[in-house]
Amino acid sequence: MTDAAALAAFRRSLDGDVIATDDLEYDAARAVWNGIVDRRPALVARCTDAADVIKAVRFAREQDLVIAVRAGGHSVGGFSTCDAGIVLDLSPMRGARVDPQARTARVNGGALSGDLDREAQAFGLACPLGYVSHTGVAGLALGGGMGRLQRKHGLTTDNVLSIELVTADGQIVRAGEDENLDLFWGVRGAGANFGVVTSFEFRLHPVGPTVTEGFVAHPVDRVQKVVALFSDYSANVPDEAMVTMGLAIAAPGHGLPDEFVGRPVVLVAATHCGSLEQAERDLQPLRGLDPLLDTFAPKDFIALQTMSDEEMRWGRRFYMKGAYLDSFPADMVDVIVEQMEGPPKVARSRSGHRAERSGACRTMRWPSPGATPRSGSARRRSGRIPRSTTPTSSGDGPQWMRSSRSARPAIT
Ligand SMILES: Cc1cc2nc3c(=O)[nH]c(=O)nc-3n(C[C@H](O)[C@H](O)[C@H](O)COP(=O)(O)OP(=O)(O)OC[C@H]3O[C@@H](n4cnc5c(N)ncnc54)[C@H](O)[C@@H]3O)c2cc1C
Repeated sequence: MTDAAALAAFRRSLDGDVIATDDLEYDAARAVWNGIVDRRPALVARCTDAADVIKAVRFAREQDLVIAVRAGGHSVGGFSTCDAGIVLDLSPMRGARVDPQARTARVNGGALSGDLDREAQAFGLACPLGYVSHTGVAGLALGGGMGRLQRKHGLTTDNVLSIELVTADGQIVRAGEDENLDLFWGVRGAGANFGVVTSFEFRLHPVGPTVTEGFVAHPVDRVQKVVALFSDYSANVPDEAMVTMGLAIAAPGHGLPDEFVGRPVVLVAATHCGSLEQAERDLQPLRGLDPLLDTFAPKDFIALQTMSDEEMRWGRRFYMKGAYLDSFPADMVDVIVEQMEGPPKVARSRSGHRAERSGACRTMRWPSPGATPRSGSARRRSGRIPRSTTPTSSGDGPQWMRSSRSARPAIT
C-alpha cells in the first residue's frame, strides 16, 4: 500500500501526471498495445523528462513498488506493465532531432518509430527500425529491432551510438563506445533490464525517399517449389534486399482471383533499399514460377513504414510463438500448411506462419563491432540461426492461442 502523504508529494513533484486506480483515466492509462494483456498497476507515472524519471524511480524504491517501463507499449508479452506496481510511462517523451552532417539522431526515450523515420527522411536518411510506425524506438533498440533495412544496415540495436540511462538508484549515466562500455554492451540486446533509457543517439544511413517493395503470391499447392526458390535466393541475394516468406489466408480486395479468397496462399515479400535499377535486377529471380499476383514496384519509404499501422492497430489480441531454424525441411512445410488449412481460419485476421529470412546473410558478413559479441544479434551474426518462423494468431477466444501453441512443437 502506497503511503498517501508520500503519493501526494510525488504527484506535486512530477511535471507529468500520476494516475491511480480511482482516476477516471486509469483504464486508458494502463492499456498496452496487446488487448490480451490486462494488468492493473497501482500507479501510472507519465514522465515528461529525465528528471521525472529519476523522481519516479526514487519514489518506487522508497515505496517498495515494482517498476515497469513503457515506451511504445508494444511488448507482445506485456513486459511494459505490471500488477500493483508503478508504470513509468515515457509516452510524453517523444521527439527526434537529426544532425544531417554527422548522420546521427538524438531520440527521446518514449519516441515512436514514426517520429524518427519522419525526421530522418526529411534529410534523406533512415535508421533501421521495424515494420509498424507506432512501435516504440526504445523497445526495438534495447531488444534488437528487425526491419526492412536490417540486412544492409543491421538491427536497430546495431545502430545505437550512445544512451543516457537512469539507474535503479536514481542516477543518470551515459554509456557509449567511450564511456561505461560494459553497460553499453549490455543494453544493446538486454536493455530493458539495466535502467530507464531517457535518450538514444543513433547512426543514420542514406535511404530513399523511394525504395522498391512488393510481394509475389502463389497457390499453396506450389509451396515446396516456393520454399526452394526462397531458400536459394535468400542465401545469395545482395544485402540491399530484405526478403521474407509467409503463408496467409487470402483476403478479398487484394488483387487475388476470387477462387483463392479464404484459402492459404504462399507469399514472398521483399524490400530493396538500393537503386531502382539494381532492385529491378536483384528481385527478378523472385518473380519466377508464374505467380498469381506480383506487386513489386517503386514506393515511398515513409508510406511503406506506415502501411501496416491500421492493420496492427492498438487493442488487437495477439499471441505468437517463434523458433529459429537452420532450414525448411519438406515435411515441416507440409505441417505448416496443414496447420494453416485447419481452424481457426479467418481472412486477414491471421497472418499465419511467417518464415522470415532473419539478419543472417547480412550480419554474417558484417565486421564485428567489437571483440566481444553481444546479445541476440551476435548470435544471428554467427549465422547459426539463419531463419526464424513465427506462428502468429490473432483473434478472440482460446482457439487462437491453441493454434499457435500446437504449431510451434510441430515445426521444430
Ligand atoms: C504491432 C507490432 C509490430 C512490431 N513490429 C516489429 C518489427 O517490425 N521488428 C521487430 O524487431 N519487432 C517488432 N515488434 C516487436 C517490438 O519491437 C517489441 O515488442 C519492442 O520491444 C516494442 O517496443 P516498445 O517500446 O513499443 O515496447 P514497450 O512495451 O514499451 O517496451 C518493451 C520492453 O522494453 C522496455 N522499455 C521500453 N522503453 C524503455 C526505456 N526507455 N528504457 C528501458 N527499458 C524500456 C519495457 O519495459 C519492455 O520490457 C512489433 C510489435 C508489435 C506489437
